[in-house]
Amino acid sequence: MKTILTVIGARPQFVKASVISRLIRSESWSKHFRELILHTGQHYDDNLSEVFFRQMAIPRPDFQLRVTESGHGGMTAQMLDGIEKVLLNHRPDMVLVYGDTNSTLAGALAAAKLQIPLVHVEAGLRSYDKKMPEEQNRVLTDHLSDWLFCPTKTAVDNLAREGLTRGIAAVGDVMLDASLYYRHQLHLSGLADATGLATLIPFNTAETPYVLATIHRAGNTDNPDILAQLVHIINNISMDVVLPLHPRTKQKMLDNGLFFQKHVHQLEPVGYLEMLWLEMNSKVIMTDSGGVQKEAYFLQKPCITLREETEWTETVESGWNTLAGCNKDKVLQTLENLSLPASHPDFYGDGKAGQKMLHILSELE
Ligand code: UDP
Repeated sequence: MKTILTVIGARPQFVKASVISRLIRSESWSKHFRELILHTGQHYDDNLSEVFFRQMAIPRPDFQLRVTESGHGGMTAQMLDGIEKVLLNHRPDMVLVYGDTNSTLAGALAAAKLQIPLVHVEAGLRSYDKKMPEEQNRVLTDHLSDWLFCPTKTAVDNLAREGLTRGIAAVGDVMLDASLYYRHQLHLSGLADATGLATLIPFNTAETPYVLATIHRAGNTDNPDILAQLVHIINNISMDVVLPLHPRTKQKMLDNGLFFQKHVHQLEPVGYLEMLWLEMNSKVIMTDSGGVQKEAYFLQKPCITLREETEWTETVESGWNTLAGCNKDKVLQTLENLSLPASHPDFYGDGKAGQKMLHILSELE
């Protein structure tokens, strides 16, 4: 029996952890693994954290840190200190981290310094934009990891270019596992009717085509000119827009006196099931989120990415995703000329990425 200590702290990590944590507790894997969950407290609001634990039945964290610093350095330092104390007390057989947040980096550093084997899920992603905090976090984490689970072949190639060739496996994307599993749950439970979305969106989503939009990347929110341009673009879309607004974006819009027009239906951040439902029913998805770009692809929805580059290059090369940055003409032209590519290759595996990872980890000495 191996003890895995999982470090999570931010919204996309809850989605990924829901897959592995459920599997670890299943009949087939519970004899091989015991999981301890550490929540760093990076995201703590009900609608950025708690709702995911509830909806996705993620076990309550065994350790809950509280971070009070909001700057990258202070926040990462507080997490590093807290995680190290837990690792020293509990000495797990391995530490598992997801993705590319400050929680990922803090977990990776804490494990590496104590020489506890480190597993990185969603390894090998690159935007090649070193200014992005996410890029810094993922590059450093990959180079500290012992086991690197890649969602795609592109990710494996990226690692090889940096000289990383050991402990690497292309298993597919756990977010596809989650999307398939919860789509099935939504279908079974008919939860779409119970989500309360109907009362939040003042039009019939079955009859009226809409754009589902999200904006939260620091690169888009922290520069007032770029944010103003994005708000201007969204205000000029001729379709209805549904936009669950990240608190950081909301605050920056307030600070800069920016507002959406009436056709933009601004919501508080929604839970995963509501988000999945909104994605499934949308005509097109517009986002700067890495996870949402992929979810658009999984659901065969056209996507417009409000960034100049993406880590998920396959979605662009296959014609399902358009990189528009904050170029208004490009966004509006893409919306006017929407067409679905004829093919939809399965770049992200078969929905069994979680099973494959656990199989590999169970065979380690
Ligand atoms: N998501 C959600 N509610 C929202 C917005 C996003 O549940 O209001 C989900 C989304 O479906 C995806 C994940 O959060 O599974 C993506 O997280 P985020 O966009 O914060 O981070 P990124 O993927 O860019 O790292």
